This record gives sequence, C-alpha cells and structure tokens, in this order.
Amino acid sequence: MEELPKSVRYLVIGAGMHGLSTAWHLAEELERSGRGKGSGVLLIDKTGPGAGATGVACGCVRNLYMTGPLHAILRHSVDVWQSDPVNLGFQQVGYVSVGEANQTADYEAIHKSQNAVGYASDLYVGAEGKAFLKRLWPDFNTEKADCVLHEKPSGYAGTHLAVRGLVEKCTTAGVQLHYGVTVHGYDMTNGRVEGVVTDRGTIRADCVVICAGAWVQKHWQWLGKPATLDLRYPDGGTAEAQDMWTFWRLLEGEVLLDGTLYRTADDRDPPVLHVELMNTPVVTEAGHRFPDLHFYTYLRYAAERIGAPGIQGGTIPIKIGPEAVLDPYGHANPLYQADDWFADYYCATLAYLMERFKGCRQRFRERPNGGIGAFTPDNVPIFDWVADNAYMVADSNHGYKMIGVGKLLARHLVGGETVPELIPFGLARFAEGRTFGDRNSNCPWV
Ligand SMILES: Cc1cc2nc3c(=O)[nH]c(=O)nc-3n(C[C@H](O)[C@H](O)[C@H](O)COP(=O)(O)OP(=O)(O)OC[C@H]3O[C@@H](n4cnc5c(N)ncnc54)[C@H](O)[C@@H]3O)c2cc1C
Repeated sequence: MEELPKSVRYLVIGAGMHGLSTAWHLAEELERSGRGKGSGVLLIDKTGPGAGATGVACGCVRNLYMTGPLHAILRHSVDVWQSDPVNLGFQQVGYVSVGEANQTADYEAIHKSQNAVGYASDLYVGAEGKAFLKRLWPDFNTEKADCVLHEKPSGYAGTHLAVRGLVEKCTTAGVQLHYGVTVHGYDMTNGRVEGVVTDRGTIRADCVVICAGAWVQKHWQWLGKPATLDLRYPDGGTAEAQDMWTFWRLLEGEVLLDGTLYRTADDRDPPVLHVELMNTPVVTEAGHRFPDLHFYTYLRYAAERIGAPGIQGGTIPIKIGPEAVLDPYGHANPLYQADDWFADYYCATLAYLMERFKGCRQRFRERPNGGIGAFTPDNVPIFDWVADNAYMVADSNHGYKMIGVGKLLARHLVGGETVPELIPFGLARFAEGRTFGDRNSNCPWV
C-alpha cells in the first residue's frame, strides 16, 4: 500500500466532480502562479473516483435556474467543459426547455440574466416556440408549449468519460491521488482543522477542501456544526430551525432506442430536452393517470452510458428527510431505486412529447437506477469556509453544472483572490436575509 503523506499543503476530500475539479485546478493554479507544485495537492477518497453521485449522474449541463447568481457559475463551468470536450466527454448539443404560459415571465427573466453574463440563449414565445420545436423534432407535440428557452452553450457529459477525464487531468497536473482512505473526523483547535483523522492516520494540511457529496452531513457534524438553522428571506420572511441537510432520492431511467431514431430533423445529436408542464397531467398510453404527480421530464442521448443507442432521463426527485442510509451508494443500495411507477410515468411523458416514443415503455431498461443527494436548506449550493482553514463545496446536487467551481475556488485558495461569483453562495446568506427560494417550479432544481 502506498504510503500516505502525513502533511500536505492542500488536502481535498472526495474524488467526485468537485474534489477532482478542485484538485486539478489547484494544482494548475499553483504551477501557473509560481506559488507551488501540483504535488502540493493530495486528493483522498474512501472508495475511488466516481463512487458517489458523480458516477451515476445523468450529466446534463444546463442553466435553467430561477436563482440568478447561478447563471454566472454555469458560464465558468461550460468554459471548463469546453477546455477539453473530448477527454471530459462533453457534448455541446445545447439545451431546450419548454414550459406553459404560467412560466413565461420566469423564462423571460432567466433569458435576460443568462445573456447578461455571456451565456447565450434564445427565447421563443407562443407560435414561435412551437415552430422552433417542430424544426428540431418534427413529431413534437407542441400543444402546451407556450415558452421555449434554447441555451446554446449547454449540453451533457458522459458520466464515465467525465470521471476518467478528470482523473487524468489530476494525474497530469501532478496531484497525489490516494483511494481507500476514509476520513473519520477532524482534530479541531480554536476553529482550525489541525488534522484530518483517517483510517490510515492523521493528515495535517494547510488547507482542507471538503467535497463529500451526499456524505456532507457527517463532515458537518464532525466539524461541530448545528443540525438546524434559521433562515431569513429577502422579503423579510423567516423559517426557524430548518434541517441543515435534507436527503432526496433521484428518479432516473433509460430507454433503449432499438431502431428508433433520436436525432434532430437535420440529423444531429439533439439538445438536452427538459419539459415542465405545471398544468398538464401525465397519462399513460393505456389511459392511466398519475393524480399526484406533475409533468416534469428530461432526456438526453446516452449511448455511452447504456452501451447501446438509448436515452437517459428522469423527473422530480423525492424528499427523504434529514436522515438516510448512505452506504452502499447508488445503484447498489436497494432502498433508493426508482419506484415501480417511474417507468410507466417516464415513458408516458416521452410518448406525450414525441410520436417516435409511442410504445417505448417496452424498451425501458429494467435495472437499478438510483442515487441520493444531500440538499441545502434552500436547495442552492453552499460554497464557503467552514473552519479557518477548511472550505466546503456542497452543491445541493447540481454538480455536473458546477464543474467550474473548482476553477474559481483555486483562484481563491491559492492567490487569496476574492471571487465575486462565489460570494452569493456563502453560509451568511441564511442569517442575512439572502436565502434563495424564489422559484416557480415543482422541482427543487430549477
Ligand atoms: C441519479 C443522479 C442523477 C444526476 N444527474 C445530474 C445531471 O444530469 N446534471 C447535474 O448537473 N447533476 C446531476 N446530478 C448531481 C451530481 O451528480 C452531483 O451534484 C455531483 O456529482 C456531486 O459531486 P460531488 O463531488 O459533490 O460528490 P460525489 O460525486 O458524491 O463525491 C463525493 C466523494 O466523497 C467521498 N467521501 C465522502 N465521505 C468521505 C469520507 N469520510 N472519507 C473519504 N471520502 C469520502 C465519496 O466516496 C465520494 O466519492 C445527479 C445526481 C444523481 C444521484
């Protein structure tokens, strides 16, 4: 077994999207600025790269957020994906989001905010939106499509390729990677992490970056942080003693194409598609109606994931609560797989949207497909210091869209630079009346 360093300049915990991106960019920033070497960065994971949500995600990269400050973060993320799309597995196919008239004002605000930060998108309303959709997918059912947003820089990343590519970036940049190392706690003195306690000994670090994904709650507890907090909103509203971390389980699945062509009319890989129809029921082709569920669906081409031509997508996640069994994670945990109704529901949304998906239920891939995430009190990421020398990246399950955070963070951690894009996501927002939460959607992700 390779010996683990006893002390290091930067210790990154977790080899998921954020740990890998942060370690890679820290190493590059150290070299670029002449302030150190890539080998000054140590990345550890209790299992290995992609062992958490990063290894099972759908990989969609889009910017449809009603939380404005996220738009600038996305621009940086797409820059990172586009810095090496081949090795990172990124397909810049764009993203198309469709809503009913009740979301038109939201789409207008999103469109304006995206373009203000250099994230190019087009908005189509009414007949223009329907025509735009028909140009891409001639068999699209545009009856309820009142507003359509087309984000050009967006796309998706193949999950396996992204993990492999990020590991390669870290290796090339000189990062020390050690897997099978489990953190069990933090030695704290006067608000500083003196040592990170692992099953392979204690590691001292000048700076610790915690990128623990769904396991964030444990790290939060080890740091001595409270389980609940009070929230203050911009309109003066308050909510007391809210759970700091809430687990949600994600519902996703795959449908084999089996000869059905899923290309645009001009024979391209289609944009990632996202449709929320807040006033439209979901009804299967056999006539079964889902009375308690909203129409919310997304899909992207996913041959790389499935191993055959197919699509992958999902719907609104389901809230579990403040406690969840995290291990084993993902597809290996029978507690958190997509529900039995999911396949019927998902295929019903596809069949409603496009003629070509009629009858696709029989091509739904029956296999475990699940994963859980730890969400913050306002479902928006937290990027902030949690001890004098420890920084936490808790993305509230928006991770593939946040690959750029590691790059922004490297500037902050190496050069001490204030990075304005990260400021709105600090913990102080909850006490200072800047808690997010103003969104007109049935989904916590929008
Ligand atoms: C089913 C599913 C679909 C998704 N689809 C999308 C999508 O389409 N687009 C999108 O943007 N996002 C999506 N997400 C969200 C995205 O995958 C996550 O937000 C992101 O991958 C989280 O990255 P992370 O680095 O924070 O955490 P993770 O990938 O969970 O990595 C955390 C790592 O920390 C390690 N770790 C934890 N505790 C310890 C410890 N004590 N000691 C050592 N190591 C530890 C774990 O082993 C793990 O490898 C999806 C998530 C799921 C579950």
